[in-house]
Amino acid sequence: FGSENLVFYGNEDQKQEYLPPLVLGEKISAGAYTEPDAGTDVAGVRTRAVRQGDEYVINGNKMFITNGTTCDWMVALCVTDPDAEKRHQRQSLIIVEADRKGVTRSKITGKMGIRASDTGEISFEDVRVPVDHLVGEEGRGFYQLMHFFDTTRTMVAAQGVGVAQGALDKTVQYVQERKVFGKPLAVNQGIQFQLAEMATRIELARTITYKAAWKVDQGRIDPSLNAMCKYYAGETAVWVCDKALQLHGGYGYIDEYDVQRFYRDAKILEIYEGAKEAEKITISRRLF
Ligand SMILES: Cc1cc2nc3c(=O)[nH]c(=O)nc-3n(C[C@H](O)[C@H](O)[C@H](O)COP(=O)(O)OP(=O)(O)OC[C@H]3O[C@@H](n4cnc5c(N)ncnc54)[C@H](O)[C@@H]3O)c2cc1C
Repeated sequence: FGSENLVFYGNEDQKQEYLPPLVLGEKISAGAYTEPDAGTDVAGVRTRAVRQGDEYVINGNKMFITNGTTCDWMVALCVTDPDAEKRHQRQSLIIVEADRKGVTRSKITGKMGIRASDTGEISFEDVRVPVDHLVGEEGRGFYQLMHFFDTTRTMVAAQGVGVAQGALDKTVQYVQERKVFGKPLAVNQGIQFQLAEMATRIELARTITYKAAWKVDQGRIDPSLNAMCKYYAGETAVWVCDKALQLHGGYGYIDEYDVQRFYRDAKILEIYEGAKEAEKITISRRLF
């Protein structure tokens, strides 16, 4: 995660140095954008990178960073020109190795779901990195990040399709095994209709996700379509998992059955990589 920034905007030296170890599974990366007071309004970040000679000196705090405590390096969104006239031209993306002096990391515990995924809080205190750690152009960090989200949102949408499909598969199996009033739950048309609705929404989420991903692959990125697929697939996952748990009855509520994990894992899809409201902002802006 975060490495796409280098794929899109890194120079050849950065790509050669940082990407192969990721692909080999030797190193882990992260994308550090969100701050305690700047999430949806990502241009509101305050982490400051001040140029001093051949280095940037970075100070600030990052919040909710996936791979935050396990990453070897991260791409951090920092303010490099606080006086730029437009607030979207104040930021830059900068590579920061996690073992640099002044980087402190702590694990965020107590997450509702995706507990196998590390989430951390990171603070930078007079962290010095060479200026060649700048990714892309100074002052273009916000725009580069929007391009990043325009591709990674399809990946989160795919997560939504997978979680929803998994929950449906488990439920189809369960309702055939579970007997109520002396017969399998599955023979009730009321149950079958619910499964049909779940399957239909999943198919729609899958189709729009494939379409968006195909456009990304073709280099014809469609921000609105990417926002649609992420918002729709995330919401579908939450909706389907709720139905799936309900159809499992009391057994769905205990951790012996996987469906409660699907339910807990689904919710984040409506929040990270831009909450679904942020995606609706992207979609609606293009309607006018
Ligand atoms: C497990 C986890 C992993 C994460 N991983 C990363 C990561 O790797 N890197 C990273 O940088 N960030 C990461 N995040 C942060 C995530 O992207 C943010 O939480 C998200 O963007 C929302 O920001 P916020 O929490 O500050 O909510 P806020 O911006 O405070 O928003 C609160 C709510 O209000 C809504 N809202 C905000 N503005 C508007 C508006 N104008 N109109 C209507 N509704 C609005 C939002 O949609 C949201 O529902 C992660 C978060 C979690 C929980």
